Amino acid sequence: MTEKRKLLQRYMRNLNDLQDELKRKELENKMKELEMLQVKLARRQEQSGTKCAGGKIKDLRQKKLRKVLGKYMMTLEGFLCELARREARLSGDKGRVSESENLPHPQMLEEYTVAFCAVGEDGRELLEAALSARRCAYAPYSNFKVGAAFRAKCGRIYTGCNIENVAFTPGNCAERCALAKGISEGEKKYTAGAVVAYHPDGFTTPCGVCRQFILEFVQKDIPIYIAKAPPPEQEDCIPAIQDDDEVLVTSAYHLLPYSFNSFE
Ligand SMILES: [Zn+2]
Repeated sequence: MTEKRKLLQRYMRNLNDLQDELKRKELENKMKELEMLQVKLARRQEQSGTKCAGGKIKDLRQKKLRKVLGKYMMTLEGFLCELARREARLSGDKGRVSESENLPHPQMLEEYTVAFCAVGEDGRELLEAALSARRCAYAPYSNFKVGAAFRAKCGRIYTGCNIENVAFTPGNCAERCALAKGISEGEKKYTAGAVVAYHPDGFTTPCGVCRQFILEFVQKDIPIYIAKAPPPEQEDCIPAIQDDDEVLVTSAYHLLPYSFNSFE
């Protein structure tokens, strides 16, 4: 009897062990399943997240592109307007007001200010050429940009901008830049000039060195047109001098009446 009981006890123990083993295995399997499910879930979340982020990036890019395109279109429209305005002038349409015939002739060495629209066609053309050249100014140190234009005796316009230098002295002014371009191509005489820069307090006239330099290449007094460029906050806009903008019409003589003339 004792033997039998012992056998039964061992059997029961084995059975318990077996059940425990089965339960353990089942638990392990369930754990594995759970892990797999968690990995799957994480992957799906990641994919859906990437999808969302991708969509947002695409939207942002499109928005940015739309903005850039809009800006380009505005610039293009502005250029077309400005082009039409200049073409109309070249073909004889003198614009809204043209009273240049009634104004004192600048070659009479008189200095005066006048609205841009009332400046003669040649002067307006020079000022616009100077304003365009100003866009190329290299002025990283002062950020003071200047554009100049001079009409050679043959009628051709030479433009220039100021070019600064880290060592300061090697820098060059817009006026001398424009004249040097013409002189280097054989143009030694000039009939008019223009200077455009922006200073909140008034007109920017040529520096002393440039005044002396200009007088070297004019047979007689010549008109020098000075206008203000649009303020820095409008630099992204189309460069244009408005009809109402004031222009100083001075002359080479007025700028430097006591120039150095001879060393003999
Ligand atoms: Zn100068």
